[in-house]
Amino acid sequence: MRTLIRQVSIFDGTGSSPQTGSVLVEGETIARIAFGDDASVARDAAENADVVIDGRGLTLMPGMVDAHTHLTWASSLEKVYHQFILPHDELKVAAWRNARVLLDHGFTSLYSAGALGDLIEPELARAIAAGETPGPRLVPSTLERSPDGEDGTDTGGVFNGRGPDAMRAFVAYCADEGVQSIKLVVSGEDALKPNSAMDVLYTREEMMAAGEATRAAGLWIACHTYSPEAIGLALDAGARILYHCSFADEATVERMAAEKDRFFYAPGPGVSVAALEASPPPHIDMTHMKASARVRLELEAKLIPQLKARGVRVLIGGDYGFPFNPHGRNARDLQHFVDHFGYTPAEALRAATQYGGELMGLKTGVVREGWLADLLLVDGDPTQDVSILQDKDRLKMIMKGGKLHKAPAQVAAAH
Ligand SMILES: [Zn+2]
Repeated sequence: MRTLIRQVSIFDGTGSSPQTGSVLVEGETIARIAFGDDASVARDAAENADVVIDGRGLTLMPGMVDAHTHLTWASSLEKVYHQFILPHDELKVAAWRNARVLLDHGFTSLYSAGALGDLIEPELARAIAAGETPGPRLVPSTLERSPDGEDGTDTGGVFNGRGPDAMRAFVAYCADEGVQSIKLVVSGEDALKPNSAMDVLYTREEMMAAGEATRAAGLWIACHTYSPEAIGLALDAGARILYHCSFADEATVERMAAEKDRFFYAPGPGVSVAALEASPPPHIDMTHMKASARVRLELEAKLIPQLKARGVRVLIGGDYGFPFNPHGRNARDLQHFVDHFGYTPAEALRAATQYGGELMGLKTGVVREGWLADLLLVDGDPTQDVSILQDKDRLKMIMKGGKLHKAPAQVAAAH
């Protein structure tokens, strides 16, 4: 199967200005890109293409990557759940639906930040990869792990025990069930338990054991961290991605900058902005959540411009899945980067594409010959206005691995 997308404005994911050209997709990859008015290339490709898509007036860009996803946080634009913890079967239904909702909204890859049910995400990732259900590429995770006695999800048994051996047992369990990234809640969470953000829930020995065991098993670590101490432990353990980091001090910024090539960072403004906007019914108390969101956003507004200037890879993804911050709104994070963190639209797009692809460890996130054809056709120019990505009707084409999840109206069969 060969698909030619011609005369389109191409944003390649790296942050450079869009250029007009044509892209030929063959099988699951981008076979050829011709920039400018090289009509001979387009004509040549057109003769051999099965499908030709006219891209005039549209922007071709890489599919987006959400770096902090909880598919089992059940609420989406399509269905709101008022309770957080659901029966296992319903969690599964919600996760499978949410994967499809995210693909419908232009996300072709997801990095999971933890699940509320065991086994759901490895099963879902396998089903998506096998083409049994629509969804983005998924790095699956398991239950978010916090140690005994803390306010995490009480999962019992192998999950919550203390000490390095318990960590090794947890990693072995996760590896067996097909998880690719474990989630460690290293810092407390003010939004749930006031004044706990500076608490550090794991010992150095536990974190180092998790680091060694995950490296040996070929797994990654994602960490929920707020304080300098928690951030330091996560980096020492070799975590692949750090979330939040709101209370990073000067020395921590120095360290993050010095080690920028070995980790990723996703602050997660989506949930903070949505918490501040929310007007919950009287029986729902969001006081702590709103107070925590305000503090975090203020700190991050100072922190993130520094980290960006130092070359740290800052990614989008903002704890979507609450009723007030449902799945499907994930592209709001790009606008939050512009509004709160001083990003240009092109920089926000790069955070959502090139850096996301690097996080996934896949040849995705840029428009480049030989790379995966995970592509969007957007009505308009997101490098001028990223908010247009929030409107799924402006996504005229959604392609994952060369297959059309959403086909544009103006597809013409060649010949
Ligand atoms: Zn999260």
